[in-house]
Amino acid sequence: MTEHDTYDVVIIGGGPAGLTAAQYAARSDLKTVVVDKSPAASAIAFAERIENYPGLKEPISGRELIEILREQALGFGAEYVEAQVIGVKLEGEIKEVYTIDRTFRGRSVIIATGAMGRKPTIKGEKDFLGKGVSYCAICDAAFFRGKTVSVIGNTEEAVKESEVLSRFAEKVYLISPTEKLKVAEDSVAVEGNVEVLRGYIVEEIEGDEVVEKIHLKRVSDEGDEYLPVDGVFVYLHGSRPIVDFLNFAVDLSDEECVITNRLMETNIPGVFAAGDVTCVEVRQAVIAAANGCVAALSAEKFIHGRKRRKYDWAKSK
Ligand SMILES: Cc1cc2nc3c(=O)[nH]c(=O)nc-3n(C[C@H](O)[C@H](O)[C@H](O)COP(=O)(O)OP(=O)(O)OC[C@H]3O[C@@H](n4cnc5c(N)ncnc54)[C@H](O)[C@@H]3O)c2cc1C
Repeated sequence: MTEHDTYDVVIIGGGPAGLTAAQYAARSDLKTVVVDKSPAASAIAFAERIENYPGLKEPISGRELIEILREQALGFGAEYVEAQVIGVKLEGEIKEVYTIDRTFRGRSVIIATGAMGRKPTIKGEKDFLGKGVSYCAICDAAFFRGKTVSVIGNTEEAVKESEVLSRFAEKVYLISPTEKLKVAEDSVAVEGNVEVLRGYIVEEIEGDEVVEKIHLKRVSDEGDEYLPVDGVFVYLHGSRPIVDFLNFAVDLSDEECVITNRLMETNIPGVFAAGDVTCVEVRQAVIAAANGCVAALSAEKFIHGRKRRKYDWAKSK
């Protein structure tokens, strides 16, 4: 690993906070990378219609807004890598951000993973975590080669993860709590070994040492069914800050949001946070973007050891 491979800023998360931070960081000539699990997993991607983001002449979908923000960041030279961060090492001068197949090294890190997380709510989910229950198909699919797995969720993320698993598992059940998936039906080009079960709630994940079966309830008539599976991949969303990959490396509040000051600094020098993952009062795209801007300017100040923030790089060029 050379000095050349080290980024000035590694941004975790590619929602409005992370992408705005990327735009400001890259525009200030910082070597910047955004490591993002999936654009489909950003909270804004669930919004069909955005009309309150400043500057919009017409309402657009959340996906379109994300696309614009990403193009803007890439236009200033930021890199974008689609990968899930599974761990970090934040102490020291050079910080490390880990995905399943790569380590990103950075002089600073901006945490911008949003608040679509949830506590394990399905009976057995917590008990079988790592014993058949997983939240990361890319990380764990290979353990289920030739086996039967279920994916719980109805979003684009759940469909994508089913596709990943279908390359390893013999059979994949995509279990949707709703009759319709939250994606265009014609985009659900799942492989032959993926079967979509619509309108089912998973009541319990059962087994002895490891996962053996799931207990399903049909939403329409509450009928019970049991499905033998070796693995359960959960892609349901909630409204809790996504901080599991941090393993308490930065200070969190009792509500498990990342604590920052108004400069978006965490308790660790060179580590900043922005958007819904922080203890922000109002969860809106404009606030997340504004936080991202402040975090990037604070990272720039940190890296160059400036006393003050610099705002406009265009003028000095
Ligand atoms: C249905 C809905 C409608 C909404 N409508 C509006 C609206 O009309 N106007 C408005 O202003 N706001 C709206 N919001 C709120 C807005 O979407 C959020 O405030 C905003 O998206 C927060 O931005 P963020 O960047 O902090 O987080 P997010 O947009 O949630 O982005 C977080 C990113 O982090 C990534 N990520 C998560 N975990 C990891 C990991 N381990 N590794 C790598 N990447 C990871 C995700 O893939 C995602 O791309 C709405 C929210 C929802 C749910």
